[in-house]
Amino acid sequence: MSAPATPSSVTIVIPIFNEEEVLPELLARLTKLFDGNPAVHWDALLVDDGSRDRSAALVGALAAKDPRFGLIEFSRNFGFQAALAAGLAHAKGDAIVTMDADLQDPPECIPAMVAKWREGSEVVRAVRHTRQETGVRRLGMDLFHGLFGRVADFPIEANTGTFGLMNRAAVDALNRLPERSRFFPGLRTWVGFTTGEVLYDRQERAAGQPQQTLGKLLRYALDGVFSFSYLPLRLLTYVGGFVSCVGFALGCFFIVRRLLGIEIAQTGFTTLVTLVLFLGGVQLIGIGVLGEYLARVYDEVKQRPAYLIKRKTGLG
Ligand code: UDP
Ligand code: MG
Repeated sequence: MSAPATPSSVTIVIPIFNEEEVLPELLARLTKLFDGNPAVHWDALLVDDGSRDRSAALVGALAAKDPRFGLIEFSRNFGFQAALAAGLAHAKGDAIVTMDADLQDPPECIPAMVAKWREGSEVVRAVRHTRQETGVRRLGMDLFHGLFGRVADFPIEANTGTFGLMNRAAVDALNRLPERSRFFPGLRTWVGFTTGEVLYDRQERAAGQPQQTLGKLLRYALDGVFSFSYLPLRLLTYVGGFVSCVGFALGCFFIVRRLLGIEIAQTGFTTLVTLVLFLGGVQLIGIGVLGEYLARVYDEVKQRPAYLIKRKTGLG
């Protein structure tokens, strides 16, 4: 099924958290994109994730006078994934683009994604051709992508992130998923649909500081692993099985030695202490892994909303 030929509407969903430094440039570049491509009916939906700076005021002022811009404000910081979910739930376009606010994902790539969609791709992933990031964040992300690719039931492509486009049907499918701990790139793969790719050069953050702290990124990575893989649980079973087998074999060995009357030296304190600590460690890790799954089950059972909206501006 191909996309409607004329004039289709595209909504750009952008979560923002304390982005006042980058917002003027972001809004200017979006406006330029909209003005330069009049064949598409554009709008941008910015979701303010409880910013403590002037982010909401900046976007709100624009949304009040330019109908192509809309703003959703959360009652507090609920996190990037919640902001993305809110944006997707409120976006009205025939196609929806998801991107970061910091211009690491350049808006100038969006026409290529729209073209791909018009050629028949129902989901378009923007793949990072080159990347400017370095340091601990980059290392952590590479490690995560390597690990996730191996363990996940629905691996995401290397070098993809939030940036991409989904058609109405794909977004509706995503919106129907009730789960709270959301890992967007994984869910986008999970819903399926005909998927195309466009290459782009990932930029440095245009201004301001990263708002995803390393702690938040780690939690996000754990959400990814635990909601798309049972491997941690399976590994525990394997380790448990292995340790039990070794224990059983050792037991047999000692019994046989005793029966044959071979003298057993009264030593082994170091071995015992090592074994006790090792097994204690394995058990604690096991409880931790169980806890990760259990906490997620508990979160789902509580049925608290993933976010609370305080105000909407300029959403028609
Ligand atoms: N963000 C958010 N809520 C948060 C943290 C970040 O909505 O609690 C937004 C942020 O404004 C940006 C995007 O998520 O638009 C990505 O954040 P950032 O660039 O800091 O992280 P990166 O993925 O580049 O490490
Ligand atoms: Mg960024």
